[in-house]
Amino acid sequence: MHANANEQKKSFSCQVCKATPGHLFIYCPDFKQKTPAERHQLIKDLNRCYLCFSEHTSVNCKSTRVCEVCGGRNHSWLHWDNNAVED
Ligand SMILES: [Zn+2]
Ligand SMILES: [Zn+2]
Ligand SMILES: [Zn+2]
Repeated sequence: MHANANEQKKSFSCQVCKATPGHLFIYCPDFKQKTPAERHQLIKDLNRCYLCFSEHTSVNCKSTRVCEVCGGRNHSWLHWDNNAVED
């Protein structure tokens, strides 16, 4: 067992796979296996930003990040071919 001084001794569980101790959903193996559409729904459920996954809506996002696939205002992880989502 590693002593991890960087981690608060707060038990939280992953919002995606419910593992304890948790991890940020962007590091979650379950999240990575989801389809972009499922990820999109999850981000929506968690009220996260589609661009940077922070706790604000993509409308309020200051990030200049764009989708690597289409150059649109979504993270490439959330991009799927039939991406017709508009805010
Ligand atoms: Zn997880
Ligand atoms: Zn953002
Ligand atoms: Zn895209």
